[in-house]
Amino acid sequence: MVNFKSLDIKALGDLMASIGETRFRASQIYRWMWKRGVTSIDEMSDISKKAREKLKELGYVGELKLKAYFPSKDGSVKFLFELEDGKEIESVFIPDRDRKTVCVSVQVGCPMGCKFCATGSLGFTRNLKSWEIADQVLQVQKFMRSFLNQPDLRITNVVYMGMGEPLVNLDEVKKSIYTLNSHIGLNIGSRKITVSTVGIIPGIYELARFDRQVKLAVSLHSAIQSKRAQIVPVAKAYPLDKLRKAIIQYYEQKKRWITFEYLLLPGFNNSEEDIEALEDFVSGIPSKINVIPFNPYPGALFRAPTDREIEKFIKRLQKLPHTVTLRASKGRDVGGACGQLAKFRPTELILNTEN
Ligand code: SAH
Ligand code: SF4
Repeated sequence: MVNFKSLDIKALGDLMASIGETRFRASQIYRWMWKRGVTSIDEMSDISKKAREKLKELGYVGELKLKAYFPSKDGSVKFLFELEDGKEIESVFIPDRDRKTVCVSVQVGCPMGCKFCATGSLGFTRNLKSWEIADQVLQVQKFMRSFLNQPDLRITNVVYMGMGEPLVNLDEVKKSIYTLNSHIGLNIGSRKITVSTVGIIPGIYELARFDRQVKLAVSLHSAIQSKRAQIVPVAKAYPLDKLRKAIIQYYEQKKRWITFEYLLLPGFNNSEEDIEALEDFVSGIPSKINVIPFNPYPGALFRAPTDREIEKFIKRLQKLPHTVTLRASKGRDVGGACGQLAKFRPTELILNTEN
């Protein structure tokens, strides 16, 4: 039995042809699944009864199972989904005025083992399939419509910043972007999709060649090679000088501004020397710098910066010609904030972050 959501339009067309239907019916099925969120083949009323019966013999429309949700005081909601093999992943809904963003996971765990990341401390279980990535957005949209009683609510933005590293699961990530972007799918503009990477150089080149204008965010955290390698193990294989070239190439190809994510780890990467290295690294790259205060989690090696430390760091960065933003940590009280997506239950998190 095949899950029809795992098929792209072309494969669905092949399937329709194999049961004696015209290929163009594939887009009707695609629309039912990805636009309307229907899972029952019987509900696909513009498909003939005969074809529907055949489809039911061949497969089904799968969906992620919502196991739990954790609404935060700030309006964001963290979701725990169960996959067909029983593994669990997390997604986050982040509202900001007209913008409704979903942060999606791309892997169960993450193989990169960054020293400041709760997901990284989990280890790696498996890659997600493209439909499992795109379905997070569909399920969150469906849930939020009824939760907020807003039947017209639409997800406008997607960020690949949940569990896992998108550029080591790039084939499935690209397919999921096609589904999100499709006008008979979720219809999310490719410019409203951001892929965040820890700095996988071959993946950046490949994404530069990808035929969708997605935004690239690079998790820099330190512009000093030896320091970065201490907290981002993969930086040894993909050093900063080569990373910089790949990022410039991305900009040249896409003409899209880069976002640098800089985790503020007090006492580790916020000295004058760190800032000067950062200044050198970003100079000449059309980009903005997004400062992320470290979010602690049980067993974390770093502490959260104080408000004063954050303010001082931002003030100093504002001397750069670049736009500097501070990421307001949404969903912190329910463990939905960056780097906390690791199945820590909200109660544990509330205990740990109350300082
Ligand atoms: N693997 C990708 C995308 C997922 S991580 C990447 O690393 O970019 C998304 C963002 O959350 C990254 O910028 C990451 O560095 C940041 N992050 C990880 N752990 C964090 C923590 N404990 N506090 C705050 N941000 C964290
Ligand atoms: Fe993986 Fe990103 Fe976490 Fe590093 S920061 S362990 S790449 S999810």
